[in-house]
Amino acid sequence: MIGRFQHLGVDPFNLASALNAVMAQRLVRVICGACAAKGCAACRGTGYRGRKAIAELMVLNDDIKELIATRAPARKLKEAARAAGNRKTCGMPPSALCSGAKPPPKRSTVSTSSSS
Ligand SMILES: [Zn+2]
Repeated sequence: MIGRFQHLGVDPFNLASALNAVMAQRLVRVICGACAAKGCAACRGTGYRGRKAIAELMVLNDDIKELIATRAPARKLKEAARAAGNRKTCGMPPSALCSGAKPPPKRSTVSTSSSS
């Protein structure tokens, strides 16, 4: 993605100072839980039920910004991102936001009893 910006003639140093984080997102199909992709009434025979967004958030720290500014190869960027702990991916509904770098602390609130 950063390479694409550079392709547009954006100065990498300006880009690095303007960016705080990069989020990669893609949609994947979710396999039907009722039939495990074999096809059933619940999924109308498709084997899939809906889509899910998978996102990866890379928070840019000073190391990573410097690498971008100096046009470091993508491999080095990945190394730096990994060293900074930016390697978590998570599945989520498209409407939700998730932080790949730091999952929110789990709350110990009592879950409601099922009403079925
Ligand atoms: Zn199914």
